[in-house]
Amino acid sequence: MKTLVMKFGGTSVGSPDAIQQCAEIISHQKKSWQNLVVVVSAMSGITNLLIQCARSAANNDYLNAKQVMADIEQKHLNTIDALIPDGAEKSALEVAIRQHLALLDNYIESIRVMGEVTPRGMDTISSLGERINAQIVAAVLRKDGLSSQAVEATRLIITDNTFQNAAPHMDLSREATQKVLPPLFQQGIVPVVTGFLSANQSGITTTLGRGGSDYTAAILADCLDADEVWIWTDVDGVLSADPRIVPSARPIPELSFAEVGELAYFGAKVLHPKTIRPVVSRDMPLWVKNTFNPDFPGTRISQNPQRIQGEITAVTTIRDLSILTVEGRGMLGVPGIAARCFGAVARQGASVLMISQSSSEQSICFTIPAEHTLEVIQSIEEEMSLELHRGDIDRVWARENVTIVSVIGSGMREIPGVSARIFGALGKANINVIAIAQGSSEYSISLVVNDKDAKEAVRAIHAHGIENVGWEV
Ligand code: ASP
Ligand code: MG
Repeated sequence: MKTLVMKFGGTSVGSPDAIQQCAEIISHQKKSWQNLVVVVSAMSGITNLLIQCARSAANNDYLNAKQVMADIEQKHLNTIDALIPDGAEKSALEVAIRQHLALLDNYIESIRVMGEVTPRGMDTISSLGERINAQIVAAVLRKDGLSSQAVEATRLIITDNTFQNAAPHMDLSREATQKVLPPLFQQGIVPVVTGFLSANQSGITTTLGRGGSDYTAAILADCLDADEVWIWTDVDGVLSADPRIVPSARPIPELSFAEVGELAYFGAKVLHPKTIRPVVSRDMPLWVKNTFNPDFPGTRISQNPQRIQGEITAVTTIRDLSILTVEGRGMLGVPGIAARCFGAVARQGASVLMISQSSSEQSICFTIPAEHTLEVIQSIEEEMSLELHRGDIDRVWARENVTIVSVIGSGMREIPGVSARIFGALGKANINVIAIAQGSSEYSISLVVNDKDAKEAVRAIHAHGIENVGWEV
């Protein structure tokens, strides 16, 4: 029994033409897979509008909330107008959309009265886009002659109570999913499941976090013991760099789970970061494909892809950072300095993105999000006041406006010469590297450069590390 879970992202269902294109892809795949599950996001922009609507109401800007609601309604009505012929199906959809909007109106009214929107309220509101869209996509599939039914993921994915970033209880979700979806498969029905949303054990709507529809697809694939997961988006797969920075960025044919984890961590908006969790332990291949170029294979993500030795896979950046340095000769051989230092950072709620310490132990440096710079310096100074007073630590200082450039590739493992190529390229481009870190997993090397050099650094590394070596597509 072959099972495929396919997820279509916001831009893939962002217009009537796009939805029709998805319907064609689904009909085509239905011929090759016995069990097919479709997961859909809200139409692009809708989740943002819903959130805006709730915030406006909380700020007592009822007029704006009303206006946004009208826009949301109009966009969906126009969509079905373009896709579904007049008749019972269309009238039913119109009724469904109006009902959802009437509910939204009620929520908005109560938010306005209360003057605030709770995380729980926000989940109920922000998930409306998926609820409406699943019904639209299922209706379009029926129009095209496929048996299809919209299914709310509140019936399938059971989570904890962390509204806006809920964690699934996998055992409960598996049980629920197994009850609902296989009977539909047996009747030849293609379920169109709402991405992003879920429910806690009392049935109250939760969400998996922004961009969470990818995660929905992976969770369902796990619960169904599926064979593959395909994430349909608007680019030809995972790219080797941000195409706005490197116009010659290319789709990566194959990636490992570890690499895609690094990429997600380093800010590439490829997949919701939790997506690979359910599939990684089963080594279930996950594809990223382009709705608007469906014949292109896209990127295959799996446990152990073929690698050319010495190959760099992708280069990416994290911006808006500061690099902090704690320096002083008195730190040599004194245990516990780093622990206290990072304790002081953690107390400010700042997460540390990269750490580097020379073995002479005269300085520790690390990067944090720029917005935390001042409070983190103060916090370390307080923690280290005795050492500062005694002169064991000379100073704690920050260099602002820095970017981490991260070079990712499991082909770098145990291969000498890769860093030489990277630094050679940066040297030629006359770019100063402020700090360096390489994890012992050797999947990535991270460099800190000034913001003003970041784009040039990415281009130089891409040109010398990716375009001129490695695979040819
Ligand atoms: N619609 C949700 C969002 O915009 C979930 C998703 O698209 O994956 O965050
Ligand atoms: Mg997304």
